[in-house]
Amino acid sequence: MALRLYNTMSSRIEEFHPLRDNEVRMYACGPTVYDYGHIGNFRTFVAVDLLYRYFRQSGYGVRYVMNITDVDDKIIRNAARDGVSVQQYTARYEKAFVEDAAMINIEPPKLVRATENIPQMAEFVSRLVEKRLAYRADDGSYYFRIAKFPEYGKLSKKDFKGMLDGARVDVDEYDKDSARDFALWKAAKPDEASWDTPIGAGRPGWHLECSVMSMQELGESFDLHAGGEDLVFPHHENEIAQSESLTGKPFAHFWFHARFLLVEGEKMSKSSGNFFTLRDLVLKGHKPSSIRYLLTSVPYRNQLNFTFDGLKQAAVSVERLRNFRLRLSAGNFPAGATPEMQSLASETVDRMRAALDDDLNTAQAQGAIFEMVRQSNAAFDTDGIKQDDVAPLLAALAKFDEIFAVLDDDDGPKMKRVFEWASGEGREKDISNELHEAIQSGAQSDADIEEKIAQMKAARAARDFKASDVLRAELAEAGIIVEITKDGIRWRRK
Ligand code: AMP
Ligand code: ZN
Repeated sequence: MALRLYNTMSSRIEEFHPLRDNEVRMYACGPTVYDYGHIGNFRTFVAVDLLYRYFRQSGYGVRYVMNITDVDDKIIRNAARDGVSVQQYTARYEKAFVEDAAMINIEPPKLVRATENIPQMAEFVSRLVEKRLAYRADDGSYYFRIAKFPEYGKLSKKDFKGMLDGARVDVDEYDKDSARDFALWKAAKPDEASWDTPIGAGRPGWHLECSVMSMQELGESFDLHAGGEDLVFPHHENEIAQSESLTGKPFAHFWFHARFLLVEGEKMSKSSGNFFTLRDLVLKGHKPSSIRYLLTSVPYRNQLNFTFDGLKQAAVSVERLRNFRLRLSAGNFPAGATPEMQSLASETVDRMRAALDDDLNTAQAQGAIFEMVRQSNAAFDTDGIKQDDVAPLLAALAKFDEIFAVLDDDDGPKMKRVFEWASGEGREKDISNELHEAIQSGAQSDADIEEKIAQMKAARAARDFKASDVLRAELAEAGIIVEITKDGIRWRRK
C-alpha cells in the first residue's frame, strides 16, 4: 500500500509518489540561528525526520535538504549588539542546532547556508526583474510584484482579490491579512552587514533564500516542502509566487506542515514562563529519548500539548520498550517456535506500516508495538516464547526503532554533555537562573545517575548481578533509591 499524506496545497490526503523514479527530493525550512532551538522547533523538525525515515524504510532514495537562515534583521541586530560579525554570531547557534538535533536522533539532512549562496540569490532577483516580475525601489531594495502572479494565495487559501499593485511590505514586518509586494532583497544600510552583488549591495530576504536553495539542490520541481504551520503564509506562499512565476513550472508537489505545539495547554512564550529550549528540558533532568518519544506520540497534524506529566509518561514508555528488548535478548528460551508469536511479530510490522501509511499516524504505530509488548510479556510468564520467536520479535522492534529511534540507551552520555556545556563559562545568559543555580550547587546530576542506571541495566542483561549490586550500592550512597521492577529500573532521590 502506498503512503498517503495530507497535502496543504490540495487540502486533501493524497497518495504519495515521487515525481522521478524511486527518488524523493524533499526540502525543509530550517532554523534561523539566532538562539537555541525550542521544543516547538523540534516538534516540527522531528516530524519531518520521521517522514524522512519512513520514506527510506519504504524503499525510496531520499535527497533531504534543509536551509540554515544565517542572516536576517534579528541576527544583524544581535551581532551588532554583541560586537561580533554575523558569521561569528550565527556559528555558535548553528553548532548548537546540529548538536541538539543529534541529541534527539534527528538524521542529518544536507544543510545549506543562506550566506553561502548570495550570488545565486542576486542572480535570481535579476532574472525576475528581466521578466518584469520584480522591481527595484528607490532605496535599492527589490520587491516581487504579486499582481503578476494571479494564483497568489493558492496555498493559504487566502483571497487576495483586491491586491494593491505596488503596495509594499518588508519581509520581516508582514501584515498577515493583506497582500503586498514583498521584499526579495534589502538594500544595504549604513553599519549593517551586506554583500556586494551585481544588483547592488544588500542582503537577501528570507523567502528568496528558500526558493533559490531548494531549486538549486533539488531542481525546479521537487517532491515535498516542509515546515511548521506558521510558514504557510506568507513564507511558503511567497516562495511559490517567485519560483513558479519565474520557471513556469509547479514548485513543490507536496506541502507538509506540522501543527504548532502548545505547552501545558498554552501557546509557548517567554513572557508566560512556559518557554523551553531542548537544553532546558535536559537540564531539568529529562532524557532526550523521552522528549523525542513525546514529540512523536501525537500525529503531526494534531495539536501536541506538551506537559511534564506527558514527558514522565513518555519516559516510562521508552523504559518498557528497552526493557522488553533486553529481556528478549538476554533470556533463555526453550527450542522451537510458536505460531502465535511468529504471527504476532509479522502482524505488528503490518500494523505499524498501515498506521504510518495513513498520513503518519504515529500514535497508532506506537499502539501496535505496545500491543506486541503486552502480549509477549504475558507469554513470557507462561513460557509461551521459544528460541525461534526471538528474532522476529526483535526484528519488529528494530523496524519500529528505524522510525522512532528511542531504543538505544545513550541518554546518560548525551545528558552529561549538556550539563558540561551548562557549567561552562558565561552560561548565565543562556539558561534560567534557577537551572544555573542548580547546576552550580554541584549535586549529583541526573545525567550521572542515568549513566549508572544504564550500566546497571547492561550488567543485569549480561546476568552480572554482582556488578549491578555494586552500582546500586554506589547510588544508594549518593542518596539515590533504585527500584527494580519488571518494566525496568526506576530511581528517585531520598
Ligand atoms: P524558526 O527558527 O523560527 O525559523 O523556526 C524553525 C521551524 O520551527 C519552523 O518550521 C517553524 O514553523 C517551527 N516552529 C516554530 N515554533 C513552533 C511551534 N510552537 N510548534 C511547532 N513548530 C514550530
Ligand atoms: Zn523556508
